[in-house]
Amino acid sequence: MTKLECSVTNCLHNSDHRCCKQAIIVDGHEARTQEETCCGSFDENKEGAFQNVFKTPENRLEIDCEAVQCNYNENRHCAAEHIGISGDGASRAEQTLCATFKMR
Ligand code: SF4
Repeated sequence: MTKLECSVTNCLHNSDHRCCKQAIIVDGHEARTQEETCCGSFDENKEGAFQNVFKTPENRLEIDCEAVQCNYNENRHCAAEHIGISGDGASRAEQTLCATFKMR
């Protein structure tokens, strides 16, 4: 399980820079740079209408990852100890990225 810090505070699942989902997917099968990855689990919290009072943010979560050329990718699963997702203000998943991606 990976520790995740996320700066995409306008995501529905974000609470206190942590994710309230138990598992996420990072996309970017052909990715060779961080910008070519994205958080496929992103959902825009339009106008901040939704407050995540029902869920507690996860300290560690499962990360399935399509960025197979990343140094931390093991069989489409993230083996990094800690990752950062960025892209605050995003309105689409493609405007987020995995800031820990490192080409093999
Ligand atoms: S660090 Fe690499 S393997 Fe882990 S989520 Fe980011 S791109 Fe995927």
